[in-house]
Amino acid sequence: MKRISILPPEIAGKIAAGEVITRPASVVKELVENSLDAGARTISVEVVDGGCRRLRVTDDGCGMWPEEAPLSLLRHATSKLRQDDDLLRLATMGFRGEALPSIAAIARLELCTRSPDREVGCRLVVEGGVIRDQTPWAGPAGTQVTVSDLFYNTPARRKFLRSQAAEQAHILELLRHLALGYPEVHFLVQAQGKTILQAPAQKDARERLAAVLGVEWAEAMLPLDLAMPGLWVRGLASPPDQHLASPRYQFLLVNRRIVSDRLLAGALRQAYQGLLPKGRQPVVLLEVEIAPDQVDVNVHPAKAEVRFKDSGRVFAAVLAAVRQALEPAQRPGRQEFTGTWVAGPALPVQEARPAALFSDLPPLPGGIDLLPQTPPQPVPPPQVAAGEAGPAWRFAELPILGQLQDTYILAQAPEGLLIIDQHAAHERVLFEQFARTADQPAPRQALLFPVTVDLAPNPAAWVEAHLPTLQEAGLELEPFGGNTFLVRAVPACLAQHDGATLVPGLIAELAPLAGEAEEPDQVRRRLHLTLACRGAIKAGQPLRPQEMQHLLSQLDELAISSHCPHGRPLWRLLTFSDIRQNFRRPR
Ligand code: ADP
Ligand code: MG
Repeated sequence: MKRISILPPEIAGKIAAGEVITRPASVVKELVENSLDAGARTISVEVVDGGCRRLRVTDDGCGMWPEEAPLSLLRHATSKLRQDDDLLRLATMGFRGEALPSIAAIARLELCTRSPDREVGCRLVVEGGVIRDQTPWAGPAGTQVTVSDLFYNTPARRKFLRSQAAEQAHILELLRHLALGYPEVHFLVQAQGKTILQAPAQKDARERLAAVLGVEWAEAMLPLDLAMPGLWVRGLASPPDQHLASPRYQFLLVNRRIVSDRLLAGALRQAYQGLLPKGRQPVVLLEVEIAPDQVDVNVHPAKAEVRFKDSGRVFAAVLAAVRQALEPAQRPGRQEFTGTWVAGPALPVQEARPAALFSDLPPLPGGIDLLPQTPPQPVPPPQVAAGEAGPAWRFAELPILGQLQDTYILAQAPEGLLIIDQHAAHERVLFEQFARTADQPAPRQALLFPVTVDLAPNPAAWVEAHLPTLQEAGLELEPFGGNTFLVRAVPACLAQHDGATLVPGLIAELAPLAGEAEEPDQVRRRLHLTLACRGAIKAGQPLRPQEMQHLLSQLDELAISSHCPHGRPLWRLLTFSDIRQNFRRPR
């Protein structure tokens, strides 16, 4: 065992740098945040070899005086914080005074800076954390930091770098985030001399989203806006019929700081629950603005996480904001519904992809050009066959042709053969009925002879905790000692399935594995999803014509008539023109 000794400063510096600077993108993040703190209107980023070889960030911000520039390289030297309670009301991205010294410890750094109120600024060359050269500099006002040979003196860290293309993709992703958070700033990003992101100053988030992700997304997004005292949630959220395989395009900003916050991500997940197919993800730009003393940003080395004082309130606000935004999408007018219908059901399930940007792989070797090549084109409305743009299709009015495999209802629509998945359709109907009547006790069937069910300890504790919520949904359970419960009534939708026997399975499906605490709202929503699924007509169940007719007329009442709560389509249309083509008939 060796004896304790204090590390020499250059080693300590390298270790501290490792917490903040893990890859080229983290250098870019720190430098661009400094530029934003300096009030820059234009920020340009140049990347060579994924940033491993060279990175340069140039801004037109406030710059530094020659006498203060060397200070910026000292640890804990900052212009943004004077006393400790400033930490409680941070309005800047930086505050620790660590970034520049950390970068200087593990790369060669050149800093050129001039304040607009001085004719001459200075140029510093730093190597291994030590200033090697200082000369006057009379370039444009602002600051230019060039970082070369990142990790040249920390080979262990260098080994963890991924390919240059992957590092560049990280940088681009980061800059997309930052660009979305600061639409009023002009961002220009070049890699190997080629422009990969160009976002001129824009007036709002939607315009910026068009520059960053493409016009198709920007136009489809629904606005979020919910304000309450000391808290403002705003941004854009994709409608339920547009989604992606990855959550990469959920941009979360708290007081304009990029975060990867589990609470916010959880609120988004809950807001979209039941609206997206399994495993699919919405595109969201979520900006939370909150009183600075209500959030702690000093909990993570790279400031990627934040801690809210009242996380329940933030969660509820985000959930409500997104739900509100999705509401109109959930309740299309007849007109819109007609459009979707005639356009063919390929629309809702197909994922809309903006130009090349949305490959789920990291973009590019060598850098693809992300500039929209053509001026923004409005998304064309769904095509409506001439003469058939009638005002309203009502499912109830379509002639029913029969049932296929006791699973699909066949009906004749004006455009072709309509195939309806009876289970998915009924499931949606039940789910919406629950949602619509959530504030009233659900219809139930009392059991003539109450039966007992024995549960495992975990589910039993969960049932005990949520008896009133279960009761509201029509599932009346009464503690009967130990882990046993008496079933007194079951939701009406389960009655035809011999509901009581379903109860243990239902509880097993609903109770979380670990005994984590849940809000009644969460429980209610899952309960509705599960009851709708269990209570719905099954595939393989023969239906009488009146039953089919009844189901179709219920579809007319639906807010979302295209997908079941798990995101599967309810119906498909085989158009007459497809049918004609299949039989090689002339048009
Ligand atoms: P922090 O951002 O936490 O203050 P940094 O090490 O990132 O710490 O920067 C140290 C100081 O250098 C900043 O507080 C700021 O005064 C100055 N500085 C850094 N980058 C710039 C820039 N682009 N423009 C003007 N001043 C800058
Ligand atoms: Mg900083």
